[in-house]
Amino acid sequence: MSRILVVFGTRPEAIKLCPVVSELRKSVGVDVRVCVTGQHRELLDQVLRISGITPDIDLDLMRHDQSLDRLTAAVLEELGPVLERECPDCVVVQGDTASAMAASLAAYYHKIPVAHVEAGLRSGDIHEPWPEEVARRVISAIASYHFAPTRRAAAALLREGVSENTIFVTGNTVVDALLAARATLARDPGLVASLAPLVDKFADKRILLVTCHRRQTFGIGVEKIAHALLELASRGDIGIVFPVHPNPNIRDGMDRKLSGHSSIALIEPQDYLHFVRLLELAYLILTDSGGVQEEAPVFGKPVLVMRDATERMESIDAGSARLVGTSTDAIVSTASLLLDDADAYSAMANTYSPFGDGLAAQRIAAVLS
Ligand code: UDP
Repeated sequence: MSRILVVFGTRPEAIKLCPVVSELRKSVGVDVRVCVTGQHRELLDQVLRISGITPDIDLDLMRHDQSLDRLTAAVLEELGPVLERECPDCVVVQGDTASAMAASLAAYYHKIPVAHVEAGLRSGDIHEPWPEEVARRVISAIASYHFAPTRRAAAALLREGVSENTIFVTGNTVVDALLAARATLARDPGLVASLAPLVDKFADKRILLVTCHRRQTFGIGVEKIAHALLELASRGDIGIVFPVHPNPNIRDGMDRKLSGHSSIALIEPQDYLHFVRLLELAYLILTDSGGVQEEAPVFGKPVLVMRDATERMESIDAGSARLVGTSTDAIVSTASLLLDDADAYSAMANTYSPFGDGLAAQRIAAVLS
């Protein structure tokens, strides 16, 4: 029996690794164990509840507004003894969080091979996104198996000297998760019945779905995005639905600027099924999220990326996403163009989905097993 330890700590990692855990559990001769760091406690637990996956080990490291230094040190310190006890043959990490980087480093210190899901994303700027760009480069330096979601990501790894026979182009597992959620909702729409009041409230309006959580947006970025949303809301023909990230650096500013506006619904972070339903309902999406940039084209929804650079150029090249940064003017003018010009909107809505076909987790499990 070979033993695989899957380590994650945040909502996007959980969404993207649950399909891999499920596929590995179907593999013969593989013992899969799940360790969560708890980097995002509530958001992580939301995903675990609907995935039916119960962690074997929970490091429970989340502290209120904790620094990256402390979090990184805590993962290293707490995961080391777990690795000694569990003796996995391979540690699987995903993406570019502090949890993933520290877990890969801990595995390296214990001479355990690392498999990296969603490898090879690069913006080319170590400050954008900060600190994720460095986290993923560190993981690439350590990993023995690189699961690149796209050919572009594989090419970036090759350029950095990663050996070709350790790179596997698999698609992004978020598409697997999204298609599974969509199928669940089609079978049982009642699972998201609690969205009904929101849907009724904006029944005669087009919905703008907004998410925002990146560290480099904290402070002035939050202010500028909030001003843009207020200006867009004053049009009167749209309803803004904004599940607000619990990080106080986002939540406090958004609450202060936006709460009480009749065309803006500030809501709690949604569990994955509810969020997928909101993606389906949205006319246009404004986000700084990586995962949402990957999901939106699956549903043919145009995305305005509120960042100065993105490592997910595939959807920019496909024409389904545009970079608008956090400038109030750029957000308002680009969103207004798409709301007012049907041709501009359909040019973005009718492209293709470049991030996967829903079978990524199967490919990854096949390689690992
Ligand atoms: N998401 C969710 N509920 C929400 C907002 C987002 O389930 O209220 C999902 C979304 O569908 C995507 C993931 O969370 O799969 C993105 O997470 P986040 O934006 O926090 O991180 P990133 O993808 O930028 O690393």
